[in-house]
Amino acid sequence: MTPGVRPLIAGNWKMHGTLASVRELAEGVAAGTAPGADLLVCPAFVHLSPVAAALQGKAVALGAQDCHANPKGAHTGDVSAPMLADLGASFVILGHSERRADHGETDAEVRAKAEAGLASKLTPVVCVGESEAQRLAGEAEEVVAGQLTGSLPDGFAAAGGVVAYEPVWAIGTGRTPTEEDIAAMHARIRAELEKRFGQAGSTLRILYGGSVKPGNAKAILALPHVDGALVGGASLVAADFLAIAAAA
Ligand code: PEP
Repeated sequence: MTPGVRPLIAGNWKMHGTLASVRELAEGVAAGTAPGADLLVCPAFVHLSPVAAALQGKAVALGAQDCHANPKGAHTGDVSAPMLADLGASFVILGHSERRADHGETDAEVRAKAEAGLASKLTPVVCVGESEAQRLAGEAEEVVAGQLTGSLPDGFAAAGGVVAYEPVWAIGTGRTPTEEDIAAMHARIRAELEKRFGQAGSTLRILYGGSVKPGNAKAILALPHVDGALVGGASLVAADFLAIAAAA
């Protein structure tokens, strides 16, 4: 953790759930308590409204998993940042490795989307992370530094933007980097944020993501500059998600 920074535990529900199951999941999360962390859940676009209703008056923020770079227009199938804000979202995950892989999203596109999010007062959660081949080649830190340079817009720090370090090879695999490797990468990300944004970069939240579970959360969240977690699979079970939050 970074001293003085309140952790954020974010659930990425990806393309999972039915109307009934996401309502139940949201209600389960909202019924819990997490005195030591802020909570955020990010359902699929079509589930934003029912989840917003389930979270009404609760201390759980709502986020989306992507947005278009333009506020409106002829973009069939896409969803704009103003639409997300209108539904009650206050965060938007951007540049997740699944978006980068499935939709070929580039750093420049992620940056444009983050700018769109900021224009609608959404806090961007910008994801970065190396592939396994890049880590084995000793390139992980340089890859992530390059993604940060390319993906973060200038207004990122002033808006309290969030960075999520998610090694691609750790997502959904049950594998995690060593604690030393997580700490080293988070220290590098902190240094990059301070170089780019000055003092404001020293308190931005840097989340770790990739196979975070109740059993490993405490050790990971105790590492320096790990200011929370972006959780995929384990966020689909309210008790597991809350157990991770309790470890913060
Ligand atoms: C993710 O996709 O953001 C993620 C971290 O997934 P998981 O926790 O399942 O590895």
